[in-house]
Parts: sequence; structure tokens; C-alpha cells
Amino acid sequence: MDEIKENIDTCVDGLKDELINLSTFIHDNPELGNQEYKASALIADMLERYGFRVERGYLGLETAFKADYGKGDGVSVAIMAEYDALPGLGHGCGHNLICAAGVGAAIALKPVVDQFGGLVTVFGTPAEETNGAKVPMAAAGVFDPYDIAIMAHPSDKYCVYSSSLAMDAMQFEYLGRAAHAAAAPQEGINALDAVIQLFNSINALRQQTEDGSRIHGIITDGGKAPNIIPDHAEARFYVRATTRAKLDVLRERVINCAKGAEISTGATLKISNFEFSFDDMITNHHLAEACIENLKRLDIYDLSENDKNMGSTDMGNVSHRVPSMHMYFKIVEPGTPGHSIEMCNAAGSEKGMNAMLVAAKALAMTAADVMSDEELRQRIRDEFNKILK
Ligand SMILES: [Zn+2]
Ligand SMILES: [Zn+2]
Repeated sequence: MDEIKENIDTCVDGLKDELINLSTFIHDNPELGNQEYKASALIADMLERYGFRVERGYLGLETAFKADYGKGDGVSVAIMAEYDALPGLGHGCGHNLICAAGVGAAIALKPVVDQFGGLVTVFGTPAEETNGAKVPMAAAGVFDPYDIAIMAHPSDKYCVYSSSLAMDAMQFEYLGRAAHAAAAPQEGINALDAVIQLFNSINALRQQTEDGSRIHGIITDGGKAPNIIPDHAEARFYVRATTRAKLDVLRERVINCAKGAEISTGATLKISNFEFSFDDMITNHHLAEACIENLKRLDIYDLSENDKNMGSTDMGNVSHRVPSMHMYFKIVEPGTPGHSIEMCNAAGSEKGMNAMLVAAKALAMTAADVMSDEELRQRIRDEFNKILK
């Protein structure tokens, strides 16, 4: 095993320039979710050059891809590559480093696949920040045949036991009746009032929710002119809770707030989801423990115990289908927020690139552990089966 890991180390070091070039180009050419044409093409091209069979436009998603190495006659490993940016902030979440780490890990695993058989797949998963592509992929069952699914995300710390909130993207639309707001207000049905009541009810509800719940929204349509009673108003909320089961309960309470506003104003309510729903992230502890050992091997000892991340990620949906790990690697000083200018700058810096190489090695070494150790695989699978029953 030592030799395998030394090979991984050497291989990623050999890929250093290419991975940094890839990551830097994507950093300097940020593309929003589902528009990552340049990034997905570049990553797919590189994997193809290294002998991966690439399916572009995977599952009908233009900027998604699936890149396979190996025959699938053994242990299979899925590695996630994200590459979408944020509006106005470029790579303020550092996804340019996620894809480079994933690509580096996958290429370094080729000799392991040659030795043990099996399959390494890089899934190019667009739009993590909005309509996460892992959601339809997970729903279609594409991850189900894999033994593990892994990825690495930049952060202000190294942390392997990550969690994230389950999230629903809820849209509330109210249909009222327009009327002159001064001459004939009694003829109108005020859709904006319904939205305002919805906000007030949710503000009251928020005090009685469980720790870790988050409800936050904006008004996306508040009427056209002050002298017209608004016949249409709309609000969008992200509703989050620590688990999918808790979110299903909270979601009903939010819907009741919306229904209350419907009854009191007479405006007709329409509820829909404006983006895919994310599940909470379940980290497989046996997988995480293997990764921690590998990080120590790479001289990373400063590990955070558990990341109580109050955000959400579509990796959560993957983790409900296959034993998963969403590790964080440190590129900024502790306390630096994600989605910030500081994070964006670090994602393009030398420090960021070096950490990305460490992450690539840790991912590959952990996958190599799983591919070569049947007992570890069984422990990982047993834990997964137990939690999701
Ligand atoms: Zn983000
Ligand atoms: Zn992110």
C-alpha cells in the first residue's frame, strides 16, 4: 500500500502544472451554473487525453459529463467535479479547485485501476450553486452502482466530517384582482398583502423552529404601480433544516403560513419549487477515517472535528444514494467566509493551488484504500445501510 500511495503522490506532483493551468483558467473565466461551457469542455478534454472515455452533455445536461477509466469489473469510485461560479463574485466558492482536485485524483488512480480492476468515474456536475445537477443524477440512480462517491471543497479549514442542511427552494405566488387603488380599492384583491402576511407569519414561525433551521426569502414580484392593487405577487424562499425528515415537517408549517395569507386576503395561492431540493449531507465515517489517515500522511494534522455547515449542497442527494464524503481543504485563514472576495482571491492563489494538490492526493489515496481493502469496503457499506434504513 505504501508503494501505491507513493505513486499517487508522485503522479499528482507530475500533473501539477496541468492542474494549476486548468484551475487558473477556470478561475479567470468564471461561468454561472449550467453555462460552464468552457470549464466542462476543458476538463473533459484533459481527461480524454489521459485515456478516460468521456460522455459529454451527460443526462441531457449540456455542461455535464461522465468520464470513465476501467472496465467496471470490481470496485467503482465516483469523483465529483464542480466548476460553476457565483454572480458578481466569480469563483468565490472556489469550485475551480474542486474540479482540478477531482481530475488530479482520478488520473492518479489509473494505475490502481490497472492493478485491482474496477472503475473510476469523474462526474462533471454543473450548477451546484443553483439547480444542482447532482439532484437529477442521483434521482436517475446513476450513483447507485458505485462503492463510494467523494469530492473535496475549499474552505477555511481541513475537515472531513462535513454536514449540510437539507433545503427546499419554495416559490409562493398569489393571484389577486387589479383595481384602482384610490377610486375602487374595494373591488381589488391585494396579492402583495398576501406576500407581506406570508413574510410576517414566517417571521413569527422562525422563533419556534428547531436549531439549525433556516428560512430566508425575497419578494420577486411586488406589483406594478402604487395606484394599482397588485393582482400578482410572488416570493421565493429557501427553507432549510438539519435533516430531510425535519425539513418535510418545517416545509408543511411554511405552507400553512402561506395558506393563512391566502384565506385572509382572498388571493389565490400557487406553490412550486423554483430549483431542485437538496438533501442533507451524510458523511460516511469509515470513509472519512481513511481520509484522515491519508491527510496525516500528507502532513495535515490540523483537522476540524465536525463542520457544522449551515449551507446546503447537492452532494447531500448523492450521500443518500451511495457512501459519500465531502471533505474540506484549507485555502484561507479560519473565519474567512465562503462566497467572499477573499475566498475568490485565494481560489486563484498559489496557496489555493497547493492545497488543491493535497486534496487531490488525499482523495486518490482514500479511493485506493477502498479499492484495495475489502474489509474497509464492508464497513463502509454496513454503515451506509444502517443509517439509511
Ligand atoms: Zn457555494
Ligand atoms: Zn461551493
